[in-house]
Amino acid sequence: MLVRFWGTRGSLPVAPRARAVEDKLVGALMRASGRSFADESEARAFVNEELEFGEGHTYGGATTCLEIEGADNSFVILDMGSGLRELGNDAFRRMASGHPRVFNFFMSHLHWDHIMGFPFFGPAFDPNAHIIVHSGHADCEAALRRQQEEISFPVAFDWLRAKIEFKVLTPGERYHVDGIDVELMPQDHSHISYAWKFSKNGRRLVFSTDAEHRMDDIEDTRAFESFFKDADLVICDTMYSLAESITLKADWGHSSNVMAVNLCHGAGARKLVLFHHEPTSSDADIDNLFAETIRYEALSRKDRRKLDVICSYDSLEVEV
Ligand SMILES: [Zn+2]
Ligand SMILES: [Zn+2]
Repeated sequence: MLVRFWGTRGSLPVAPRARAVEDKLVGALMRASGRSFADESEARAFVNEELEFGEGHTYGGATTCLEIEGADNSFVILDMGSGLRELGNDAFRRMASGHPRVFNFFMSHLHWDHIMGFPFFGPAFDPNAHIIVHSGHADCEAALRRQQEEISFPVAFDWLRAKIEFKVLTPGERYHVDGIDVELMPQDHSHISYAWKFSKNGRRLVFSTDAEHRMDDIEDTRAFESFFKDADLVICDTMYSLAESITLKADWGHSSNVMAVNLCHGAGARKLVLFHHEPTSSDADIDNLFAETIRYEALSRKDRRKLDVICSYDSLEVEV
């Protein structure tokens, strides 16, 4: 399986402002002071190898939308945040060269940042497309219809031309969807959210966003360590630092980088992806959270297996 990140930001889409881009350029020019580059590839190597990721790039600002490549005959998409618009455009390119027009969606929950991309998803207007929306929420269809009511959006849900169906799945059951085994689990979040586990050919991927894990909740820790057990990749809500998550932002429905590392260590997971970045965080703030997480992982590892930590950004691809 291959995971492609189309949107990694939490709560609200963001874009860097003019001054943020200026600061990156000034920083890079200062670092390169006195250097000259023979060609573009030398300049590119300097940006990629000598600058922090957030100095030479941006983590991006589209809200939650991921794609898993690896199903037999369909696109597999996790959540419908604003990143879905670009995925839709890319899907048209791939369908033109023969990719089946079938879309299996899996929804963490129905908050606006996780559904706002659907009205801009071009394939929903394609009469030959088939969209199946899998959710733990019985009110998933109502949420999608409601955001396209005339008071909020000019194109009604009933004007969409694709065949669209909704399937409500039950936690604890194991499903087989187009060549991939799928399980879900409820999480602590306003109106509940669901973690998803996808398994194929012995590889396991967990998608767990918008979940509040508390350090002193032993039952929750056991349940998630078991759901994450031996996962090859865990994509986790790490919106806050530990300090924020236990003081100012307790009960806001999100987790910290520290809790994510603890759960992955307890589960023996191999890789953790930091995800659902706080919209007020700058690229430098996310660089810092990433560095802090790597340090915490090394300090807390003890005799456990090393957990590789990856920080997600819009357009990242990870092989599972
Ligand atoms: Zn969210
Ligand atoms: Zn949410």
